[in-house]
Amino acid sequence: MIKIENLSKIFVTEEVQTKALNGVSLTINSGEFVSIMGPSGCGKSTLLNIIGLLDSFNEGSYLINNQEMANITESKRATVRKENIGFIFQNFNLIDELSVYDNIELPMIYAKVSSSERKKRVQEIAEKLNIVHRLQHFPQQLSGGQQQRVAVARALVINPKIILADEPTGNLDSTNGNEVMELLTDLHAQGATILMVTHSSHDAAFSEKVITMKDGEILSTKVNQKDVNFFEKTEI
Ligand code: ADP
Ligand code: MG
Repeated sequence: MIKIENLSKIFVTEEVQTKALNGVSLTINSGEFVSIMGPSGCGKSTLLNIIGLLDSFNEGSYLINNQEMANITESKRATVRKENIGFIFQNFNLIDELSVYDNIELPMIYAKVSSSERKKRVQEIAEKLNIVHRLQHFPQQLSGGQQQRVAVARALVINPKIILADEPTGNLDSTNGNEVMELLTDLHAQGATILMVTHSSHDAAFSEKVITMKDGEILSTKVNQKDVNFFEKTEI
């Protein structure tokens, strides 16, 4: 589904050039749950933002379903993003002035979904994530865990091909953090493709594969043992 080859990203500010990504290659198959770990500043968010089409890259190739993302126009990138990507941020990024209902509905307005379909989808998603009773509330009236559930609902409402989560439990206590991890695990069990950046090896253990980065490069990719079924995953 996602195939990245030799991707590089250089940030240029007035005084300095930072090579945030240096020849990164990775593949994410449909239905996989992958996490990315590594020290602060090693390029995790940059990689996720590029995969999420929030940012461009300087060199290399990035295919979504065999479609090349290098050198596409801003407006095309925005369209592909709205149709394919669900993004979950550490600080939730909900719009405080909008109700929970309106926050969840927003991506569908951008995607020009009809109003009757939007209403139906918000209800379905809210039921799935157990936030129906919160739909008329505002983000500040909710706990951090509930806000992140709303953010997950907002990410899911357009049926994205991939869910990207940048330290989704980073601002949550362990109880709320575990709730969000259970939610992601359930979604994965139902077939969702998830790529998550995390500092927590506890959270990474929920995923099937752990990519470790350092200084803008991928150091290693490990399959989590608990998910390895020798007979299914070994080609004979
Ligand atoms: P991580 O998420 O692993 O902590 P980032 O991807 O945020 O790391 O950052 C990687 C490197 O790129 C860091 O050196 C950071 O300072 C730099 N960087 C990230 N975003 C920008 C930006 N918008 N402008 C300039 N430098 C940036
Ligand atoms: Mg980061």
